[in-house]
Amino acid sequence: MLITDTLPARPPAGSSGTGLRWLAAVMLAILAGLAVLPFLASRAADATMDALQTVVDKERAYDRLLDLLTDAETGQRGYVITGDAGFLDPYHASVAAIPAAVRDLKPLADGLAEQATLDEIERLAQRKVDELATTIRLRRDEGFAPAAAVVSNRGGKADMDRLRLLIRERVAALERERLALRDRLSRTLGYNTVLGICAGVASALVIGCALFLVTRSLRAGKEAADHARQLADAQADHARQSQARSQRLAVTAQMLQAMDSLTRTDELHSVLPAFLPKVLPGSSGAVYLYRNSRDYLQRAAVWDGGASHPELVNPAECWGLRFGHAHAAQAGDDMHCPHLGTDQPAPGRTDLCVPMISQGEVLGLLSVSVPHGPDTAVELAAATTISEQLAIGISNINLREVLRRQSTVDELTGLYNRRYFDETLRRELFRAERMRASLAVVMIDLDHFKHMNDTYGHEAGDLVLRTVGRCLREGVRRSDIACRYGGEELVLVLPECDAAAARTCAETLRKTISALQLHHADAALPQVTASFGIALWPAHGEDAHTLVHAADRALYDAKHGGRNRVCMAS
Ligand code: GH3
Ligand code: MG
Ligand code: MG
Repeated sequence: MLITDTLPARPPAGSSGTGLRWLAAVMLAILAGLAVLPFLASRAADATMDALQTVVDKERAYDRLLDLLTDAETGQRGYVITGDAGFLDPYHASVAAIPAAVRDLKPLADGLAEQATLDEIERLAQRKVDELATTIRLRRDEGFAPAAAVVSNRGGKADMDRLRLLIRERVAALERERLALRDRLSRTLGYNTVLGICAGVASALVIGCALFLVTRSLRAGKEAADHARQLADAQADHARQSQARSQRLAVTAQMLQAMDSLTRTDELHSVLPAFLPKVLPGSSGAVYLYRNSRDYLQRAAVWDGGASHPELVNPAECWGLRFGHAHAAQAGDDMHCPHLGTDQPAPGRTDLCVPMISQGEVLGLLSVSVPHGPDTAVELAAATTISEQLAIGISNINLREVLRRQSTVDELTGLYNRRYFDETLRRELFRAERMRASLAVVMIDLDHFKHMNDTYGHEAGDLVLRTVGRCLREGVRRSDIACRYGGEELVLVLPECDAAAARTCAETLRKTISALQLHHADAALPQVTASFGIALWPAHGEDAHTLVHAADRALYDAKHGGRNRVCMAS
């Protein structure tokens, strides 16, 4: 499994990041615009207000000058007509204020034309004041008539009319200007209102966007952190699994190596319980092998309290064997194998039965119970793999057993072969010498066997040989060695056996053979007999060769003595 299979996919980046940068730039531009535009708009409004104030001030100044001139003339008229000095109070007040009023106006002049008008107003106002002063002085010094004469020559009136005209024209112009400024001001204020609304909306948008960006960036940060965490977890998981896998592989290799040293499958119980708990941590279970009869499976090994794994299993009671593949059951599952003895697996555990198959042949069964955990699926898969390894190991043991048997056991009779006889006789002679015990060699030859072959066929001869072989295997002690010497000649090695015991053994076998009643192809075979020659160590031979030779000679004697008899070497 590649690590990339298990690692979480990275969240997409790139185009959305560029989009965010553009959005941020646009927002900054809007913020800058929002900061500058209201400032410019308020500057424009301030300038219009200032201009309006100037116009109003000028209008007032012109009005005041006209009022002063009118008041001064009214005071002069009243005094000239009545001679009452009381009329001169407003006159004096106005005349005193007129120069200052003209002076105040002059800096407010807007352009050369108004400057010229103001110069003319100043000149006419001064002449008017002089004319008023002259008439008042005449009235006071010379009486009504001279003063009235000056008034009625209309020089003063013309000046006053001109002044009134100039001032009213100016005031009218100022009024137009004031109206225009007021319009402009109201327009500017209108713009300002719209700008304010726009600024509000834009601010809300900018704040919204900022919030969106911040949220998005926080979410992106969280996603990145989550992804990094998932990545770290996946890597830790991967490292743990890969460590467990290599440990499992190493232990499995050791187990297979240990199995390689076994010569028989009934030795499995001394090897498997040492390894399987390490290969499948926390598990308990058993390994079963088919008996030769293939009716039941025999328990070959059990580990970690395999109390629920009986000595024998009926193949019909295992779903794994019936299906021909791994069968797992958890608490609550219906199909729990009956051979496990309970209706349900133990809580928190899974029971798994895997047939052990090698080269298409079901050799046995791996029955395990594994605890639930994050890696249960991995453990179950590992158990299946282990069953394959076990099958290979067991098949190798079987193969070795077969080879060993083939190299030492004769296939037809089931007796040990000539090679085994030669080795064993030498070994047993050493042992007999060491233990100062006696040893007998019994040579056996079937009588007239050629005739049996010729008359009833080779298969009948084989049947006779097979049956005689079984008689020998079953008729001797477990410590005795029964062999096929070659053809229809057989031989026994009887360790710790004296002459009398050897003769008794040979006689018993002779009788057993001669009592056989065999049938082949619906035909009864004739009586089978055999001749026996016995030689004893060390009496008849010091070594294997001379001993066998002596036994052979005794057998020859038995043949010549009439067959179906036992002869002792002399
Ligand atoms: P005798 O009583 O003198 O021993 O006579 P005999 O016929 O047994 O002896 P002989 O040596 O003439 O013949 C032995 C026969 O045994 C010849 C051979 O075909 C037969 N024979 C040897 N090995 C086998 C075998 O594996 N199967 C069968 N069917 N026959 C075998
Ligand atoms: Mg022979
Ligand atoms: Mg013979």
